Amino acid sequence: MTEPQLRHLHLQVNRKLSQCLQLAEQHFHCQFPRPTISYKLRGVKAGVAYLQLWQIRLNPILLLENQQVFIDQVVPHELAHLLVYQQFGRVKPHGREWQMVMTQVFGVPAETKHQFAVQRVQGKTFPYRCACQIHHLTIRRHNNIMREGIEYFCKKCKTKLFFVESQDSTVNLE
Ligand SMILES: [Zn+2]
Ligand SMILES: [Zn+2]
Repeated sequence: MTEPQLRHLHLQVNRKLSQCLQLAEQHFHCQFPRPTISYKLRGVKAGVAYLQLWQIRLNPILLLENQQVFIDQVVPHELAHLLVYQQFGRVKPHGREWQMVMTQVFGVPAETKHQFAVQRVQGKTFPYRCACQIHHLTIRRHNNIMREGIEYFCKKCKTKLFFVESQDSTVNLE
């Protein structure tokens, strides 16, 4: 994962956010503050909307591995939660207000689960996780771990590296 690649993805996320916000402003005839985006979400969730913080947290691994599909689905999904909260208060998370925003305002399917392909994106490297970051190990090191039971530790946080499962998985959107 290189810096320019990441910057490009974040730019696309921001562009999608602007497009969706514009659609919402046309629909509701009002201006919405721009939510902050954080890329610090870990685990199997693709994205989470923090209503009171007016923040969208995105899973950086799933973003990297699914790119445009992720952006097209997760950004509208989470933004819709914020808009519904602003417009209708606390209602059912994926209730009719949320579905209306998805289908009528954004023009996308109101889906709550997605099949994201969780693939390796860096050729023959394998994603491993410690407490602080993602490491991309070579196939040699990966085999050492799998076959020889050798353990690797992060130099920064000193915790053990764990393999990030890379099969296709169904990811819940929250
Ligand atoms: Zn670490
Ligand atoms: Zn949701």
